[in-house]
Amino acid sequence: MTDPLITDLETVAEVAKAHQDTFEVMQHMLQLDDDIDDARLDAFIDELAAPIVAAIDCTQCANCCRSLTVYLTEHDASRLGQHMGMTAAEFKTGYVDRKSAQAVEEWGCFAQQPCALLNGTLCSVYEARPESCRMYPQFTPDFRWLLADMIEGAPLCPIILNVLLKLQPMVDAGIDKYL
Ligand code: SF4
Ligand code: SF4
Repeated sequence: MTDPLITDLETVAEVAKAHQDTFEVMQHMLQLDDDIDDARLDAFIDELAAPIVAAIDCTQCANCCRSLTVYLTEHDASRLGQHMGMTAAEFKTGYVDRKSAQAVEEWGCFAQQPCALLNGTLCSVYEARPESCRMYPQFTPDFRWLLADMIEGAPLCPIILNVLLKLQPMVDAGIDKYL
């Protein structure tokens, strides 16, 4: 029998904190293993994550929309503006922070956090949402090198936490035998 998924957000934060050190050990084990084929590891991670992604209902969570800085491309801004019946300039004035984003070499980010486009736990612009929202949480490509970001995201995202919890004993046992 498989362990039930952890979805309660307080428990997610607690369990992620308790596993921080073991997750970091896992990161080092994977990154220092020169025999790992990144493409095979990525395919394995996608397969491991798929049932977890399918089982966790993001519309009941939205913790990423409340907690993360969401970076935007200029194309995102014009698509969102159009979707909301605004010009790109109006959308930028109302919703985008260029200055903070440019400090980290991004085009822009949402000016408000939690995201101003979040309605309860639902995205009010779902069909037109930014590319970074569509991609989150992103495990691949290059899982090994995204793992530090994953570990950082585990306390807020049930999907990430559950994937890392499932993976960790496999890495301990020797990931080669699963690839
Ligand atoms: S645009 Fe939608 S999916 Fe993206 S952070 Fe805002 S509410 Fe969440
Ligand atoms: S991606 Fe993670 S944090 Fe965001 S809504 Fe889904 S489970 Fe929650």
